[in-house]
Amino acid sequence: MNVLVKQRIAVLGSTGSIGVSTLDVIARHPDRFEVFALSASTQIELMLRQCVQFKPVFAVMASESHAIELERKCRDLGLLTRVLWGASAITMIASHELVDAVMAAIVGAAGLASCLGAARAGKRLLLANKEALVVGGDFFMQTVAKGGAKLLPIDSEHSAVFQSLPADASVWASQVDKIILTASGGPFRRTDPLELRHVTPQQACAHPNWVMGRKISVDSATIMNKALEVIEARFLFGVASNQIEVVIHPQSVIHSMVQYKDNSVVAQLGTPDMKVPIAYGLSWPDRMASGAAALDFRAMADMTFESLDSHGHKQRFPGLQLAWSVLEAPSGSTAVLNAANEVAVAAFLDGKIRFDQIHGVNLETLESVATAIPQSLEDLLALDALSRNAANRVVGRVGV
Ligand code: NDP
Repeated sequence: MNVLVKQRIAVLGSTGSIGVSTLDVIARHPDRFEVFALSASTQIELMLRQCVQFKPVFAVMASESHAIELERKCRDLGLLTRVLWGASAITMIASHELVDAVMAAIVGAAGLASCLGAARAGKRLLLANKEALVVGGDFFMQTVAKGGAKLLPIDSEHSAVFQSLPADASVWASQVDKIILTASGGPFRRTDPLELRHVTPQQACAHPNWVMGRKISVDSATIMNKALEVIEARFLFGVASNQIEVVIHPQSVIHSMVQYKDNSVVAQLGTPDMKVPIAYGLSWPDRMASGAAALDFRAMADMTFESLDSHGHKQRFPGLQLAWSVLEAPSGSTAVLNAANEVAVAAFLDGKIRFDQIHGVNLETLESVATAIPQSLEDLLALDALSRNAANRVVGRVGV
């Protein structure tokens, strides 16, 4: 008799775009997975509905006031879910001995401590929260290795690269020539760079191909998302920064590619639906139904590609180059860039700076913060706080 042991999952950021898609995939496979814990920040009603549907042992809210309200609502419905709050409770569920896999889908550096907690505890860590790896860098990867964790990329590009690489990671260095990340170009791929000063948050969040949270949507519009992904690829796959390239592919059909030493290119294709990389991360090394639609090649008009050197992309997307600059700078620099960008995006969404000022905030912050090599979570959090202060000063000075 083949008895499948259910995997117990903690979904961090369960109320977000990735969190909701993850629960959708999990719900399709009740024989394989059960939800052990959920975490969210502000969306109490959605969290309550998730508790009703998945009956987790723990539900964690970021703040005490949200947790008190959720707990009262859970009690009224007779739910047995234990409601906790705060960053240390999120790390507790990420590293809990009964958890098999952790979906890290909190947005921003706020997810770093829980990712490291899961890594230290040797979990299967499904990493959507790219900012955590950009901040943590080598320290993050060392923690994964020391904890014996299995790190599986959820970002569609990195999942594509992972699926295009040989299963045996020891041959990557000798066989891989380069990693080619595709970028859609976002909503402003043809916008005159001088017009970007008029972009509103609503326009920046309207991505042509993907439905995502607000922060990553703005990052896609500035192409900083791709800069973060270049950094992410460097750490995930251990390649040199000059082995990573970006090409614009507006249809988002090819999710990314690996070029080998013999110039053979292996790519992963699919519809733009995060349920595919999520299902792959959950089922790896197996495959299972994701709920995403299949590609219909007969209905596909064309697949096109643009160099970053064409169509004025360098002027339109000045932030991309920062990825290679920080990867060549002292190792804390990726954390400085991430913090600056989080502050700048939040300031843009709050109407404090213009869209075309985001890059300037990132650049000035990078120039003003001296970095030392971070050796611990505390070092990283201190550098993150220092960089946020510096970025906030720039926002205060240049703001509209
Ligand atoms: P969302 O903004 O949709 O969701 C973020 C989640 O994190 C929500 O559950 C939110 O809670 C929670 N959260 C926000 N701030 C905090 C905090 N300070 N402490 C604890 N929890 C917090 O983001 P996405 O789902 O779009 O993205 C999540 C991550 O996945 C990001 O790092 C993004 O770059 C990455 N990613 C996303 C993709 C996508 O298609 N969306 C694709 C590839 C990567 P609440 O909603 O309750 O306030």
